[in-house]
Amino acid sequence: MTSQTTSLPLTASNPAPQATRQLRNFIGGEHVDGVRTFDKLNPVDGSLIAEVHESGRHEVDRAVAAARAALDGPWGRMTTGERATILRRIADTIERRFDDLVAAEVGDTGKPETLARDLDVARAAANFRAFADVVSAAGLDSFLTELPDGRRALNYAVRKPLGVVAVIVPWNLPLLLLTWKLAPALAGGNTVVVKPSEETPSSATLLAEILLEAGLPAGVVNVVHGFGEDSAGEFLTTHPGIDGVTFTGESSTGSAIMRAVAPRVRPVSFELGGKNAAVVFADADLDTAIAGLARSTYLNTGQVCLCTERIYVERAIFDDVAAGLAEQAARLRLGRPEDPATTTGPLISQAHRAKVLSYLDLAQQEGATLLAGGGIPSLGPGLDGGSWIEPTLWTGLDNSHRTVREEVFGPVAALIPFDTEEEAIALANDTDYGLAAVTWTRDLSRGHRVAQRMRVGMSWVNTWYLRDLRSPFGGVGLSGIGREGGHHSLEFYTEPTNVCVQL
Ligand code: NAD
Repeated sequence: MTSQTTSLPLTASNPAPQATRQLRNFIGGEHVDGVRTFDKLNPVDGSLIAEVHESGRHEVDRAVAAARAALDGPWGRMTTGERATILRRIADTIERRFDDLVAAEVGDTGKPETLARDLDVARAAANFRAFADVVSAAGLDSFLTELPDGRRALNYAVRKPLGVVAVIVPWNLPLLLLTWKLAPALAGGNTVVVKPSEETPSSATLLAEILLEAGLPAGVVNVVHGFGEDSAGEFLTTHPGIDGVTFTGESSTGSAIMRAVAPRVRPVSFELGGKNAAVVFADADLDTAIAGLARSTYLNTGQVCLCTERIYVERAIFDDVAAGLAEQAARLRLGRPEDPATTTGPLISQAHRAKVLSYLDLAQQEGATLLAGGGIPSLGPGLDGGSWIEPTLWTGLDNSHRTVREEVFGPVAALIPFDTEEEAIALANDTDYGLAAVTWTRDLSRGHRVAQRMRVGMSWVNTWYLRDLRSPFGGVGLSGIGREGGHHSLEFYTEPTNVCVQL
């Protein structure tokens, strides 16, 4: 979702008001003004957080030039070991600036502080450590060739950076998803121009400063702020100076970026949308399954690409699961991020809430029965200006309904009954997306059997979101192209060159 709130030309006669925090672009190690500013609002109460400096073509040119110069500088000549040392130092510096990053992330997203601490910022540090390890252990092919005519040759591949990489990320887990791409890009020796979401500019700007503090040379990571079309996103993806694009966001945006890079045939890595299914068999441990479903449906107010929006339940336990999950939804505590009792924050923006509300209306038109939520909560004075929404649960829908086919990206799920294992697999796979799935069962063989037949990139059994950062992450169909994670990331962020030496 994009929502341009204001657009004021910045001129000497119209300087930005001093009282409002200014978030500038970060290019070549310096804060750089944009062509105009836009407002970043707090989703908790609608208050103004910052004026963000939007990059125009000129600023994007400067950022790409800074990244190119840094690639040709000392950074480009560092050994893998030296880069791994810097990555570990970045992780240490993130931990030192932990509270500042939590404040930036919570301010932009309104998510509970506990979630930002336990998930977003903790994972940011973990991402840098993980890829320092991955690149240190990475090897490449070597072959001793022996031809029938007696010639012998040694073939070995060396790994080179992809070059200047455009990193474009969304707003839902801003720092986690940015560092998930930045850490392997840096591990591989690349330089980077980051375009954070217009909804979450703060943590990326702060991270750029932290990277310098940790010893990363200026220009290796640059940050340009702005929107997609006719703004920093488009200027970056169409720029002739970039060597590849790694993108996380909506499938339709992925498609636009593919068209933008097609004329110059640049590689892309895409982590896109999902309409993820969970399948609950009657033999599942019901309490664990219901708690797991509540988490996979409502974590981060449903704004995680891996969140479950379709829940298929074996008919014998349908009513029990429905009652249990509705109870869990009703128990969620919506509130201010700093309150430790808060489990659930607002949606990212009023524009995104309007989209989610349109699906709540559509579900009613499609004949849904509401088991929980379904509208805007009343949270009292002070929070009225925020983009709050009730955690929602439906029955009465099936795979023919748009509500069950299209990604809502909010705290919503439809419960649908099934009778056989084959039917459950068919229903779960009946989607244009293919990111993630969860199978709940106590039958070990069935767990493996069903998990492997899910047409997705990530298939969980009796858990959700549990990750090993070395394992492949990504989706099939509309959910993406390529895999990131462990050596899969390095395959995107580096180019092997084969050397053949006749012996
Ligand atoms: P979005 O596609 O609207 O925006 C993502 C980023 O792309 C933003 O920085 C935006 O400014 C930029 N952008 C938009 N149009 C562009 C264009 N034409 N050219 C270049 N850049 C452009 O997505 P969003 O609303 O920020 O995020 C939510 C979406 O992200 C959901 O669909 C969700 O499923 C997906 N997502 C996927 C994963 C995954 O790993 N598969 C993870 C998180 C989120």
